[in-house]
Amino acid sequence: MIGEVSDRQVFDLIKAEAKRQRDGLELIPSENYVSREVLMAMGSVFTNKYSEGYPGHRYYGGQEFTDQVETLAIERAKALFHADHANVQPHSGAQANNAVYNAWLEPGDVVLGLSLDYGGHLTHGSPVTQSAKIYHFVNYTVDPDTGLFDYDQIEQLAREYHPKILLVGYSAYSHIPDFDRLAEIGNRYGCLLMADMAHVAGLIAGGVHPNPLEHGFHVMTTTTHKTLRGPRGGMILSMGKVGNPLKRTAKTIENIPTLIDRSVFPGTQGGPLMHVIAAKAVALHEAMQPEFKTYAQQVINNASRLADELQQRQFSLVGGGTENHLILIDMIKSRGVHGGIAETVLDRIGLTANKNVIPNDPEPAFRPSGLRFGTPAITTRGLVEADMPQIASWIDQAIASRHDEAKLNELHNQVIALARQHPLPSDL
Ligand SMILES: *Cc1c(COP(=O)(O)O)cnc(C)c1O
Repeated sequence: MIGEVSDRQVFDLIKAEAKRQRDGLELIPSENYVSREVLMAMGSVFTNKYSEGYPGHRYYGGQEFTDQVETLAIERAKALFHADHANVQPHSGAQANNAVYNAWLEPGDVVLGLSLDYGGHLTHGSPVTQSAKIYHFVNYTVDPDTGLFDYDQIEQLAREYHPKILLVGYSAYSHIPDFDRLAEIGNRYGCLLMADMAHVAGLIAGGVHPNPLEHGFHVMTTTTHKTLRGPRGGMILSMGKVGNPLKRTAKTIENIPTLIDRSVFPGTQGGPLMHVIAAKAVALHEAMQPEFKTYAQQVINNASRLADELQQRQFSLVGGGTENHLILIDMIKSRGVHGGIAETVLDRIGLTANKNVIPNDPEPAFRPSGLRFGTPAITTRGLVEADMPQIASWIDQAIASRHDEAKLNELHNQVIALARQHPLPSDL
């Protein structure tokens, strides 16, 4: 794709990363491989343009085409997620969440969200974040025995703290929440209902996971690069009355779309990344095609088969299995090794996964018990259920033979051979 270049240092690194991606299998649940067209839109001249504001309401001239491309992204996002409004400007999932907090909260206001230690995300109130300095986050957990949401605990905390936002979202939860029940709790205590669907947005788009906006939620934030398979970035979908995006408006749940627009720009960001927005529009178009439904279903089928195969090999899965794209293994319980050791040995054979805390983890956060897998990326490369026994077997053998270099080399060669049969979509 790249011919003669003057900056050999950087372009050699790009080549090396492409080779790493081609020759390995990506099992990190938050990663995916974008299409050639998404990549092309991201590498386009839209990166040269300043477009502060929104389509039809900009601060700079020359917006004939940026307005059209952003409008395409907005209309596609609304159609795909059945939302009244979409803001496609957040630079990332974290930025999307911060913009919603800033739109709705005053300093000191309470947000009720899932604890990071129990599968939530950093941006849901981890004390190391900026938002935790500004707002008062109260965290719910999951039932340590079942690994599932404990709705009675959520209700009890809502009664006690009267949160302004009830937030549901997670990076390491493999089940489907009862959105109706959560909406009922949130409505009883007058909360803004916010779903952070960063991990599962592609499953929602593909129709294999419930859409919180169709179960009474007011706002849904997401990343665009995980299961949704677009460029790195964020997005906010909401229900309500759409007004002038730059005009001050009363703080009511009905006005949420306008409050969000004002909060993204000028509230928390400057100029939007128009090349990324163009790529979001391309990815959203791809997600509207019938093939994407097939893809989303296959992600779930693969995860469920991989979970079965791992359980057959006596791996202990948090929550007893998976209903989405994600699997969390208790490695200490399964094999007596820390998640980080398993991560390193799998990396050694070309399988990329990541260490993760598990609910009620007895080990410290920097050396957690868990290992997290997901199937979005390998499914994009065309792997199906019949490939899952092989992957489970590699995981099993690599951990058992972690001190046997010859065996690890042999497994690595097997992984490379399978990976090379499945080119990256951008290589096709
Ligand atoms: C990945 C993720 C985010 C953050 O996305 P970034 O683009 O990395 O900022 C936010 N919330 C959840 C639940 C996530 O899984």
